[in-house]
Amino acid sequence: MKKVLIASPKLSGPPVGIAYVLADLKKHHIPYEYIDLEFTPLPEEAIRAGEYLCIGSGGMVGSWKFFHEFFAKVKGLSDTPLILGGPVTSCIQLELIFSQFGVDYIFLGEAEKRFAEFLTRLDRQEDVTDLPGLAWRNSDGVIMANRHVRRLDISKYDVSPEWTEVHVERHFGSASANHNLDYPIYHARGCIGNCTFCFPLYHGFTARKTELVILEMQKAVEAYPHMWGFSLMNETSFVRLDQAVEFCEAYKLSGIGKPWNCCLKGNIDLQILQVLKDAGCVHVFMGIESGNDDILKRMRKGITTKMVLEFYKAANLAGILTTGAIMFGSEGETEKHIQGTADFIIENDLYCTFFSMVTAYPGTAIYQRALRRGLISDEVAYLSNLEELQCEQGLHNGLLYGKTKNYDRINVSEVDDSRLYSVVMQQMRRINTHYLEKFTLQNFDPDTGSGECPFCASQVKVPLSPFPLVKAFCSQCRMIASVNYFQYSPLSRQAEMLSAVLRDKNIVVYGRGENARILRTHNLFGVEQGQYVCHVDGPTKDHYYFENPIVSIGDLGKLKYDVILLADAVPWTRKMLSSRGIPEETILDLLPPEWMQRISCLYSAQTGTLQLLPVDPGFAAHALGGACGLKSGDRIVLAPAGRYAISVAENLEELGLDVLAFIDNAKGGRGLYHGKAPILLPMEAGELDGAQILVATPSIRAMQELRMQIAAEIPGSSPICLVEALFPKI
Ligand code: SF4
Repeated sequence: MKKVLIASPKLSGPPVGIAYVLADLKKHHIPYEYIDLEFTPLPEEAIRAGEYLCIGSGGMVGSWKFFHEFFAKVKGLSDTPLILGGPVTSCIQLELIFSQFGVDYIFLGEAEKRFAEFLTRLDRQEDVTDLPGLAWRNSDGVIMANRHVRRLDISKYDVSPEWTEVHVERHFGSASANHNLDYPIYHARGCIGNCTFCFPLYHGFTARKTELVILEMQKAVEAYPHMWGFSLMNETSFVRLDQAVEFCEAYKLSGIGKPWNCCLKGNIDLQILQVLKDAGCVHVFMGIESGNDDILKRMRKGITTKMVLEFYKAANLAGILTTGAIMFGSEGETEKHIQGTADFIIENDLYCTFFSMVTAYPGTAIYQRALRRGLISDEVAYLSNLEELQCEQGLHNGLLYGKTKNYDRINVSEVDDSRLYSVVMQQMRRINTHYLEKFTLQNFDPDTGSGECPFCASQVKVPLSPFPLVKAFCSQCRMIASVNYFQYSPLSRQAEMLSAVLRDKNIVVYGRGENARILRTHNLFGVEQGQYVCHVDGPTKDHYYFENPIVSIGDLGKLKYDVILLADAVPWTRKMLSSRGIPEETILDLLPPEWMQRISCLYSAQTGTLQLLPVDPGFAAHALGGACGLKSGDRIVLAPAGRYAISVAENLEELGLDVLAFIDNAKGGRGLYHGKAPILLPMEAGELDGAQILVATPSIRAMQELRMQIAAEIPGSSPICLVEALFPKI
């Protein structure tokens, strides 16, 4: 029998449907080859040579563009039969799929079991047209379909997903190193909900055999002993209390003991929360969607805001963390509703990790209505763009605007197209700013970057970042808190200054990188969205950043503004703007140069690698007074007699401090220093007894090596590295 070639679309998560199909093929001893085109090139030669029995792919409708390109490509290589499966086949008209992808067969519903039978018959050149759930074109080109296909009863089905060939490293990370892995477990399928915006993978909830799920979890722990724990990935993990009890009892008995998280609907029996907690569940995800009961009712969500609050409260009492998902732009939503949802989140301190704009997905009620209302004029074009529309990052970074200020996805709400996105962003800004205050690391030490997780009180260390707002991931509870360096010195003074100066000003933001994004997504200095005039950036294909135009420097003269705020700028931007006649006093730094110096020092000290940016000698000299308490009359010796130390010495002298000598391994220095202090070899420096030796080079490694050498050669000398002197806590 020839192999079947199966290709997975580009996915952010593991291809679970395909993993089940592969497991079934393995069980039936059907040879297959799996490819992930992100890693493996298409085996064009083998396809041309007719080495495959058939070629298939499948997945969600968001992969429409992939399917289109993939099938077009393979069709051009051979006449091997092409097959499409997965949820995409159930929510789009068959006519459209056949005409757009040119496939020969479509599998409706769950393909396991039937696919093996199909391939066996195909290999034997037997008739396949009586197989349930199969669609094909007959010899006249007419579409035929055996639409009636029974749901697979996975509670009686003995197959677990086949992950071993699905590039596990890509999805799960390396077995030895991944401490953060929450291993995905698909212990059930489907949802009993009927939300207007959703097309669950399968209607109706069925759980797999508990013993099979536990076995899969045990194998996962053997393969990934260092992993954090598990994520139960189905849309909803349990729909009844007894299902949770069965799973939790089996999990406890198994002795696996890893923490886990899951998803629940807000209308579940709240007793479930204690049951989950007792079995090690630490975190539950819930779709809240809206803070308005009329909107929730209209979307057939099956929950009320009261239920949401009761759920959070009960989870809190049980000791389980809850995060929610929110959706803006729903049918019937007005500006007031959107603001009401933000109020609901803020007033009740509801932590939500997923914010999105409504997307009309095929198969949903809102998609059907959008088609009827003529909101989707070109269905194929719409489906081709679906992948980009799914990019919910847009809510966080303003990318949704792209080329046009107008809202360019389907708007099913009551808010005018021209207002919807800015109304949502305004409320997102309120929520983000609230989260920054509420869910921030407690007792945070900005010098070490450590603080307590606001959710579970574990110690968390944030990665060193040149940006003033940093996400703090807690490896214990898996929640994400924030750190706002504008609350701490030295940025707190900058924040005070900016709050005072920017009040009521019309602001041009220089740049549209991470710092500009932070300004737009958070209200850090009491600046309202309407105060921003534009963003200055180099040539770009985009015209807008958030709701403001992107302009070039040359356009600044045509604009009315009060200040230019340097957000993502290079050090010489200020000079360049001044040289164009822009008054110095209208140019403000978001981050003072000392901030970048400090980050550079911290980076060097933490990594022990070469500094990204040497500490500015002037800054260092000024800071030394504070950090080391150096004062006029102190005996200071610098090492080596290199450019950098010489510059530090000159700055110290300007501050009225005397540099007694330099220590250098080259007799008489390197011809760089022409001042009055002598340059001594380490062995000659014994007479400097009692002087403070300061080792200053742009490289931390060189600094540490020289410090060790001097300490060894001048007993009792206690030399200090410049970075350590400036940042003693590192
Ligand atoms: S949104 Fe959630 S609850 Fe509603 S149908 Fe979809 S999966 Fe089910």
